[in-house]
Amino acid sequence: MKHFTTIQSLVQHLSGLHKKGLSIGFVPTMGALHNGHLSLIRIAQQQCDIVVCSIFVNPTQFNDPRDLEKYPRPIAEDIKKLEQVKADILFEPRVKEMYADNEHWHLPIGELEHLLEGASRPGHYQGVTQVVNKLFAIVKPDVAFFGQKDYQQFLVISRMVTLLNLPVKLIMCPIARETDGLAMSSRNVHLSATERQNALILSKTLNRVKHNFNSDDIWRLKLEAERAIAAQPGVELSYFEIADAETLHAATANTPHIVALVAAKVGNTRLIDNVILVD
Ligand code: AMP
Repeated sequence: MKHFTTIQSLVQHLSGLHKKGLSIGFVPTMGALHNGHLSLIRIAQQQCDIVVCSIFVNPTQFNDPRDLEKYPRPIAEDIKKLEQVKADILFEPRVKEMYADNEHWHLPIGELEHLLEGASRPGHYQGVTQVVNKLFAIVKPDVAFFGQKDYQQFLVISRMVTLLNLPVKLIMCPIARETDGLAMSSRNVHLSATERQNALILSKTLNRVKHNFNSDDIWRLKLEAERAIAAQPGVELSYFEIADAETLHAATANTPHIVALVAAKVGNTRLIDNVILVD
């Protein structure tokens, strides 16, 4: 695997590959890689000639400095994992390589920016679009792969691609889960054994809603889900929403595509999960 830390060296290497007509697949990450990230790389390998993975803990998308500081950064282990799955290229820039001082960015994302995750994390999606736009400009991927785990993020990035006419195809990849159902996340390392057990209420509740889903019963299903999560000791519900899969507004009986999304704090760790109810 080739490992680049500067934009110039990466761009130079990639331009040779672009000239050869090879298709470039891109998997942006913040590292602390787990099987969810690796599943994205495997999917990318099936669809593209070359797979580039980036590891960059992007400061502009964190609104809590403590969260940024404690974000796990096991880079040596990450490199081993990427070599094991035979990723072609790792791009791992420093913050100074990605950002000049006093940079400004504002994308008119619209309502999606302020709903659900956006409401809990003001400015988060501005930071996400800022860095993903930069990464797209550097890597110039033909296809970029993102996880359904961050469902709203996928919608926001799709919106950016439309707004800025970016020449990239986006693919949403399924959520990788632990055998007990917990959605894999770099943040799971912060969970104690008890918190990890408590966290299972999220995937269990999403599964129950999926199992019992009936579009005439949305209001009741949401209420029951909220109650079940609120009743779990050590879990503080941020939101549970049964939403229109495109707008993330509350779904109604007539909504064609529906997703259930949840966010909660388990101890000090904020977790998110979702399930598609009507595709
Ligand atoms: P992150 O490192 O958390 O920014 O995630 C990088 C990419 O991996 C994003 O597209 C995430 O949606 C995706 N991802 C994170 N966790 C999972 C998971 N459990 N299953 C599938 N994709 C995931």
